[in-house]
Amino acid sequence: AVTVAATLGLSACGDDGGSDPAAGGGGAIKGKVGVILPDTKSSVRYESFDRPLLEQAFKAAGVQYDIQNAEGSTQRFQTIADQMLTSGVTVLLLDGIDSNSAAAVTRKAQQRGVKTIDYDRLTLNGVSDYYVSFDNVKVGEELGRGLQKCLGDKNANIVYLNGAPTDNNATLFAQGAHNILDKITSYKKVAEQAVPEWDNQRAATIFEQMWTQQGGKIDGVLAANDGLGNAAVSILKKNNAAGKVPVTGQDATTQGLQNVLDGTQCMTVYKPIKQQAEAAAKLAVSLLKGEKGQTNGVTKDTEGNRDVPSVLLTPVGIFKDNVKQVVDDGFVKKDDLCKGA
Ligand code: BGC
Repeated sequence: AVTVAATLGLSACGDDGGSDPAAGGGGAIKGKVGVILPDTKSSVRYESFDRPLLEQAFKAAGVQYDIQNAEGSTQRFQTIADQMLTSGVTVLLLDGIDSNSAAAVTRKAQQRGVKTIDYDRLTLNGVSDYYVSFDNVKVGEELGRGLQKCLGDKNANIVYLNGAPTDNNATLFAQGAHNILDKITSYKKVAEQAVPEWDNQRAATIFEQMWTQQGGKIDGVLAANDGLGNAAVSILKKNNAAGKVPVTGQDATTQGLQNVLDGTQCMTVYKPIKQQAEAAAKLAVSLLKGEKGQTNGVTKDTEGNRDVPSVLLTPVGIFKDNVKQVVDDGFVKKDDLCKGA
């Protein structure tokens, strides 16, 4: 625990100086925002971060809200949307499981004059009015740069564990990672596979197959989030290779950060979800008031062939030496990182 505390630049594990920003009041705004989150298994982020941070942002803005989680079921996703639309939600935020089901929801909403905001994942071929997310190609580039930093320029066989093929973000993460890694001539991609539903168990199975097929000659793993990264680490542990083969990740989860601190994961990507929740709430409030939303860019819907006005935020690469940044930001508690150290 002492070394972890030192790495974090904190005097000791044990006393938590964390503080909670006050929720604040705000005048009553007409209407109600509905939020549908995709699942609880592909990442801890939705229930641990997105939900409480969105609640905080809506409370601060003084708007009514209803946040639900589709638990990985596209059918449940549509049912929740139907219920929200009939119960009088006037702005709908969607974090879709796949574009097909989410696009159907955006159309239904549009027919009822309800504005929709794609939250985190872009709905391809949908009719959403806005998109709030991180710059996801940049996220992928952080992953690629992270792996490069941990590997150096030596000859290396690398494998990719990409996210769900139904998640447009996963496409962008892979694109960003390739932007960086394909330029390094000493690296050789020996396998690349998408993990359906970002399922961590399947990721472990897929990675174990890769490991066997390559006879253990894998030098770096581009894993698209902390769950997939941890799956690879678990297989590397079984093969006495954890800590020797750099693995990337994303979300700055407690597990991911612990892996970074103990050296089994090379890096993670921190996306300050508080900024995302606040941007989404701000946009929703503008729409509730019948105003236009403020954006800072556009995102191409490659299937619908249209540009979606977007708020895009900046991700941060996190390595052992800047884990403290995530703690200082109040995203994780030092105590949680110290647990088990
Ligand atoms: C999100 C990631 C998350 C992944 C799995 C992506 O769309 O951007 O933060 O790890 O889905 O839920």
